[in-house]
This record gives sequence, structure tokens and C-alpha cells, in this order.
Amino acid sequence: MHDIVIRGGTIVDGTGKSRFTGDVGISGDQISEVGGKLGPGRREMDAGGLLVTPGWVDVHTHYDGQAMWDPMLSPSCWHGVTTTMFGNCGVGFAPVRAEHRGALMDLMEGVEEIPGVVLSDGLTWEWESFPDFLDALERRPHAIDIAAQIAHLPLRVYVMGDRAVRFEQARPDDIAQMRRLTVEALRAGAFGFTTSRTDSHKTTTGDMVPSRYAGSEELVGIGTALGEVAAGAFGMNSDFDDEEAELAWMTKLAKSTGRPVWFLLTDRYDDPERWRRLLGAVHAARAQGANLTAQIAGRPIGVMLGIGTALNPFTVRPSYREIMGLPIPEQLKRLRDPALRRKILDEKPFCSD
Ligand SMILES: [Zn+2]
Repeated sequence: MHDIVIRGGTIVDGTGKSRFTGDVGISGDQISEVGGKLGPGRREMDAGGLLVTPGWVDVHTHYDGQAMWDPMLSPSCWHGVTTTMFGNCGVGFAPVRAEHRGALMDLMEGVEEIPGVVLSDGLTWEWESFPDFLDALERRPHAIDIAAQIAHLPLRVYVMGDRAVRFEQARPDDIAQMRRLTVEALRAGAFGFTTSRTDSHKTTTGDMVPSRYAGSEELVGIGTALGEVAAGAFGMNSDFDDEEAELAWMTKLAKSTGRPVWFLLTDRYDDPERWRRLLGAVHAARAQGANLTAQIAGRPIGVMLGIGTALNPFTVRPSYREIMGLPIPEQLKRLRDPALRRKILDEKPFCSD
């Protein structure tokens, strides 16, 4: 007898076969039978009208903080995700020295709109190195599988201190140190390295993130760690300021390390052909033997809008921009003025970054 029988769901088994209706039997921690009408199980679940699929692997999340306090990793677990990867977009929490913890929480709040108060309540900071961070994750229960990547922002701040925040170029000894720590992280189980080179990632005070202007020598220098360990992928969120140069070093890195190099493929209203050019470049690089990939979201990115968050429907109107830096109670007070409200609504929204 099966331990669990899932009855009558529409099965998409992930092999490319077309969907079919049937039962799924589970014994212990293994799927033991798929399809047809199975005998009774110790526990039965009715999946009529529902899809039964293999677990989803979500390769782009920002659970770096939440994985420390939420064993369920909700809402991903509700949507059938059974493996989630974090440490994306260059933001993360290791390696870190005590004096930079606040700055890393600010970065996560600024880039991903995860409220700083949630992070400061939830993070216990019993780690400094990336391997220590993985050990801290390992000590906690998780309902789904997790995979962590080492992120450029904490790494740069750890190695370069204030110079990282002042956008100074990394010196050869900085690059060597970041590379060494990335090798260490990969050997401890990191799934890769990520960075951010986009204006849409800013700190809570509106500054660019520390990796925004890092030179290609720094990125390639760190990236060679993947080749040395023969593990992990190199990931990036970039504005492609210089498309040709960006694609050239990524292709070179993928070729020289033999490791996957990926970037987020996003659309731009003011450059609607961009995604086609970038995909064309991916195909060209792959034809040369470079494992270059564009990571494409299954749906548009969700944005939290509000007074006090990075964006709301009025942040694209000049008169609101004049007051958006004020404390929230002061903004609310001013927004009660009918003349200002009329002015804001009459203004033509402009295309923001
Ligand atoms: Zn991201």
C-alpha cells in the first residue's frame, strides 16, 4: 500500500509528454507509481481539477534573510516551488563584518523593498564568512530545498570597506581577495556569484549600489574563481551601458571558465529592440562555445507601491518628487493640500529609470 495517493489530478510529468489524468502514489520519500487508478493509500489527497507537477526550481529569489527565520519560505512553497535559489542581483548578507550589517540590510531594503525592520528583527548575524552563513542556514529547518549564491555587494564592502561605497575601482589586491573568498564560498557550497550593474538598484537613500561601476577586470577576476573550482554560475543584472563591451567580457569569461554566465533579460520601454539584440548576442556567443544565457522571468516583476517605498504612481510627477524625500507624516500633511493634489494630477508623468 502506498503511503500517500494523490487522486485524479492532471499530471504534467516534466518529460515533455502531454498531460494526462491519473493517480500518483508515494511510498516513503519516493514517488512509486504514476498514472491509472491506484489502490488505497494510507493517506489520500483529492487533486481533481488540479495540476500535479514535479516541484519547481525558482532560480531567482531574494530569500537570503527570510531563509533564516521562515522554514516554509512562503509564498514560494504555496506555488509548488520545491527548490529556491537566492543571493541574486548582487545582494546578500555574507561575508560581513559587524560594522557593515546595517549597510547590507539597507541595500536589501533599497534594492528589493524588503523592509529593514523585518531584516533587523529576523537576522541573528552569527556569521562573518560565507561558509559560516551556509552553516547558519543549515542549522535551520526548511520545508523546501535552498541554494545560496555569494553576492558581489557584501563581498566588495567586506574587502574594500568604504572604498566600495565610494565607487572606487578595485585594486589588484582587492580583486585577488574577492576571488579567494569566492573560491572559498564555492567550495563550501555556493551555487555561484552574482552582481548588479543597474540604475534600478539603489540604496534607501537613492545612491547607486557599490558594484554599479565595477570594472570588467574586477568582474572577470572574481569570475575566474568559478573556473578554478569548476562549479557555480556567474549572474548579473545590468543596464548594458556599453552593450558590446559587456557582452565581450561575459563571453570571454564563459569561454575561459567553462561555466555558465547569465544576465537578466529585461525589457525597456525606450529601447524595445534591446531584448532582441541581447538574445541575438546570446545565440552568437553560444555558437562560439560560450555558455551564455539570458534569464527570463516567467511573469513581470512585482513592485510594492506606497508612500515611503521607492516607487508609487506619483514618483513620475515633478511636484511629488519635490516632497518625496520628506518624512512620511510631512508628505501626508502636504498631500492634503487640494492645490498640490491638483497640480500633481495635472502634470505629465515622465519616464523614470
Ligand atoms: Zn533579483
